[in-house]
Amino acid sequence: MNRRDFLSQSALSALALAPIARAQAAQGAKSQNIFEQVRAGRGLEGVDVVDSHAHIENISGNLFWPLDADILMADSRRCGIGLTIVSPFAGFMATSGDQLKAAHDACVSAVGKYKNSLRAYLVFQPHFLKTSIAEMERAVEPNSPFVGFKLHGAIDQYPADGPNYQPLFEFANEHRLHVLYHVFGGVERVGLTAVKYPQMTLAMAHMAFWTGATAEEVIALLKEHPNLYVDTCSSTWPYRYLEKFVRAVGAEKILFATDCTYLAHGPQIAKVAFAQISEDEKRLIFGGNARRIFGNRLPA
Ligand SMILES: [Zn+2]
Repeated sequence: MNRRDFLSQSALSALALAPIARAQAAQGAKSQNIFEQVRAGRGLEGVDVVDSHAHIENISGNLFWPLDADILMADSRRCGIGLTIVSPFAGFMATSGDQLKAAHDACVSAVGKYKNSLRAYLVFQPHFLKTSIAEMERAVEPNSPFVGFKLHGAIDQYPADGPNYQPLFEFANEHRLHVLYHVFGGVERVGLTAVKYPQMTLAMAHMAFWTGATAEEVIALLKEHPNLYVDTCSSTWPYRYLEKFVRAVGAEKILFATDCTYLAHGPQIAKVAFAQISEDEKRLIFGGNARRIFGNRLPA
């Protein structure tokens, strides 16, 4: 066999083997656990991932940081996040009722474009009470893109038991809707709210970090209130923080969240994927809990 024949034959046998190698690689990827998949730098595969706390913005464009729904969706897909629930920055930053409505309209368009992978929260602004109350109804319209509410207590400087939030909680309780709340004014006030509105589910953003409460106080609240949850997004947190919460309250109380596009996906996925908790606990956090809470408000 001359060199040329040898090379062409080798190339052919390599080609013939390629599908087998690909199939083996695919099989390997499927059988790899979450830790191994993420360590290999791949998007999650075979895991139902719901990002329960993300954002879009269309005010400042993509000038200094990519913020729009297209970039969020492209990144989510790349990382294996099948479904993302966003609230609009423009809603928190609104300085009039019309701006709040426009922010919600932008969510409708974004979800319209990404029907299978995007849903939104209505922003309830306690300082625009009349508009916020009128906007609440959008959550219960047929085929609503809105699956619950986001309240930013820190931006609005508003505690959970403040009077202007009560119409929203009554509404969420009546319709068994989910509320994501960035805590302001103390977690004990969130506990009072959870008791008062037992049909509503309530998640404290960022594991209720930066609220002045200790982990033990947050853990005690989570144990006390069946409808109370926390989410995982944060720029940082203490060593083995997730493990501590899973051990104390169970993975069932913890929702995966990224805070993208404000934060980046990678570290938010990694801290769940690399945690020393079981594969089943990771699956509950990544998506199982969100499926249980939101039910058929989320697309399959
Ligand atoms: Zn956020």
